[in-house]
Amino acid sequence: MTESIKHIVVVGGGTAGWLTAGRIAAEHKENQAIQVTLVESPNVPIVGVGEGTWPTMRSTLIKLGIREDDFINQCDVSFKQGAKFAKWSKNIEEDFYYHPLVLPQGFSKVNLVPHWQQQGVSQSFSDAVCFQEALCEKGLAPKTIRNPQYGAVANYAYHLNAGKFSQFLQKHCTSNLRVKHVLADVRSVTENELGDIAHVTTEQAGDIAGDLFIDCSGFSALLIGKHYQIPFNSCNDVLFVDNALAVQVPYEQEDDPIASHTISTAQQAGWIWDIGLQHRRGIGHVYSSAFTSEDQAYADLSRYIGRNIDDLSVKKISFDSGYRDKFWHRNCVAVGLAAGFVEPLEASSLVLVELSAQMIAEQLPACRSVMDIIAKRFNDTFTYRWLRIVDFLKLHYVPSQREEAFWQENRAAHSIPESLKELMHLWRYHPPYDHDFTSNNEVFPAASYQYVLYGMGFKTDLSLYRTNDAEMALAKEQFHLNKMNIAKAVDMLPTNRELINKIKAFGLQAI
Ligand SMILES: Cc1cc2nc3c(=O)[nH]c(=O)nc-3n(C[C@H](O)[C@H](O)[C@H](O)COP(=O)(O)OP(=O)(O)OC[C@H]3O[C@@H](n4cnc5c(N)ncnc54)[C@H](O)[C@@H]3O)c2cc1C
Repeated sequence: MTESIKHIVVVGGGTAGWLTAGRIAAEHKENQAIQVTLVESPNVPIVGVGEGTWPTMRSTLIKLGIREDDFINQCDVSFKQGAKFAKWSKNIEEDFYYHPLVLPQGFSKVNLVPHWQQQGVSQSFSDAVCFQEALCEKGLAPKTIRNPQYGAVANYAYHLNAGKFSQFLQKHCTSNLRVKHVLADVRSVTENELGDIAHVTTEQAGDIAGDLFIDCSGFSALLIGKHYQIPFNSCNDVLFVDNALAVQVPYEQEDDPIASHTISTAQQAGWIWDIGLQHRRGIGHVYSSAFTSEDQAYADLSRYIGRNIDDLSVKKISFDSGYRDKFWHRNCVAVGLAAGFVEPLEASSLVLVELSAQMIAEQLPACRSVMDIIAKRFNDTFTYRWLRIVDFLKLHYVPSQREEAFWQENRAAHSIPESLKELMHLWRYHPPYDHDFTSNNEVFPAASYQYVLYGMGFKTDLSLYRTNDAEMALAKEQFHLNKMNIAKAVDMLPTNRELINKIKAFGLQAI
């Protein structure tokens, strides 16, 4: 119980496995006693989707010691500045809103919602309060070639090729971070007398023993699910999508513009993601099998792409929306799809992988006797985060005025969590602000709720709202500053494609 935790075994070599192995190995690089081993099946492929990220990926890559230009060159990366939601409120061409990655202008000083609403909402909320929508609409990059690695003019994340990213991380972790890579199929798990995992037995490499086991085995959840039988909390009564048809569509011309944001277009029983990488777009239709058929989903995808897609390889992925009742049990912690997956909206899965990897790396138990304390904190933190994410994703559906059965059911009171109902009731009279979210474990800040709510046409009743002259003057100044920021940024920034081409030719300066 008091011997130090030395050997960490990660089962699974998808994005979750490599990010977690790398994050732990990088954090403890100086400590030669700590060994991270990643065991991965040579026969079970990675899920191969997950191409939209959050800005947190920049700090994760920095922690891993990765150069941004290497990552951009080798993983087909483009810059992402948020998401454009089309037809989520009404099924008409003109309907769209943005959820950008930059906070509203002056967000820490003044809540601009009431002031924007009082102006008569002639300009969209995100455009009135944030300069990033204008950049996305013009396909501009979030920085210039003169900004150093990871530096930015506008906050950004990435779009990446999931298959190439896992391989890139594998090479980096094994070459630079001493992660041992074992290609073998885990067949069974053996416990010690305490009920901890003593070793996993593999087909090709025998037994692999460890002090801490990280289950990154994807949907198969070999350790947390199959072995420990930790219950799965289903969310399919709240979030209805359960299937995806994913396809890779080459650009017509090599130098076609690359969208600087994810495009999410609502469909009759789900939505389609559209992610522009350097050489292709990754497009997928996420739908609910209770409300549409696979044939119809395929036809809708084909119509969205604008051509027959029979010549392209369409991958079908089915999933149960939900997450584990606990993520860390005894000496086993689940990260990635093994921990849960609700749906791809807002790229919330990889950010949870990064946050999990960070917490494990930074709070790695010194010895077994303190592991249960850290496990409890981990479970409390991540249960909270999953609950908040479910609320936030559901928020995208509830204010919709679309008439199809899927959308009507999405706004039926019985499908909305009580916690979200309560917040939405509050926001009828108080626009969302930081004080609504009191935990420091929030994944999505109050600004994100503002962008989605008011983007979808939600109205707050301001008849009882109290303001004063000083606040009104401050708000007016912020709207003006935003206009100036738009003009300045539009003037100085290259297109997403131009910047990618320059980075490929010249690289980026070191930080
Ligand atoms: C349709 C869809 C779209 C998504 N889009 C996004 C997005 O845009 N943004 C985002 O953040 N996330 C997204 N995600 C989630 C994202 O794909 C995952 O979080 C990410 O890929 C991590 O997956 P993973 O590593 O947990 O699992 P996987 O990629 O499935 O890897 C599992 C690993 O376990 C190994 N394994 C399995 N069985 C064994 C065994 N017996 N022995 C040894 N090894 C084994 C496999 O070989 C593999 O290496 C999406 C998911 C889906 C389903």
